[in-house]
Amino acid sequence: MRVTETVTETREVEVLRSVKCNQCGEEVEEYGFGNFLCISYVGGYASILGDGTERKFDLYEPCLKVIMAGFKIPPIINYGSFDGPDEST
Ligand SMILES: [Zn+2]
Repeated sequence: MRVTETVTETREVEVLRSVKCNQCGEEVEEYGFGNFLCISYVGGYASILGDGTERKFDLYEPCLKVIMAGFKIPPIINYGSFDGPDEST
């Protein structure tokens, strides 16, 4: 059995305030966090990026759109019940 008591303590915690796009450097604070693609990639055995080497980066949606436009094979898009975004911009 564990015996506990409630105490008041002060400690430092890390709080996310903004996200910067690794591609363009755009910084977004709080509102809009959801418009980033956050990638964490670990190279596997014989990876050209290094075995077990982890890379983390964030791409803001406008940069993601440009990168996807360069794909030889376009990504699959599922709009669900929505009509989809305006692709004219
Ligand atoms: Zn960007």
